[in-house]
Amino acid sequence: MKLWKEGDRSRGVCEHCRRLVETRFDRRTVTLKRPRVSAPDVLVAVCTQCGNIVAIPYQSTPRLHEARRKAPVRFEARIPKELDDALGLVADKFSARLHGLDAALARYYLHVVGRDRRTAVRIKALAHSILAQGKGNGRLSLRLEADTWDRAWTMARQVGMKTKSELIRGVMVAAAIDADVATADGEKPSPAFRKALEAIAVSTLTS
Ligand SMILES: [Zn+2]
Repeated sequence: MKLWKEGDRSRGVCEHCRRLVETRFDRRTVTLKRPRVSAPDVLVAVCTQCGNIVAIPYQSTPRLHEARRKAPVRFEARIPKELDDALGLVADKFSARLHGLDAALARYYLHVVGRDRRTAVRIKALAHSILAQGKGNGRLSLRLEADTWDRAWTMARQVGMKTKSELIRGVMVAAAIDADVATADGEKPSPAFRKALEAIAVSTLTS
């Protein structure tokens, strides 16, 4: 794929001039329709006759996607303090900090829940394990991409989960089991998740 840069020249059909024109690549703010948002600093091919935008190269699509992206979802879930402690053990195990790790782990599990029904079913079962049943005197605040949350919550409801707190508790229990800091009857740690947990733990650093 050719990567264009500012000042490069090409040709294209200008809708305004109604003919084949020479174009010059330039960075512009592009206004999108539905949703009506502006994407700044987008590389576009501009008609050298009238200044009309003739084409937007493929390399600019991530900037357009970024502008269309919905605001992150933010919510708080009440979780048992013991689960908070379990996450502390997970953090210790991988020499990570608890602060920030809890949310990063939750985001990863929710990402998988949204794509994998078997994981969703497992999380639901874990949400009803003894580990998840303590008093909700701890708190987890979480921010994640709206698409990730929508997919996860849709799948969670499909497998019969009723509340967001149920989903989050299940995720926390799963992380504790997968990192081997807690056990639940009949539940084995998932080696795939354990690897992912380690990767997340070492790459999460928040002060
Ligand atoms: Zn033109």
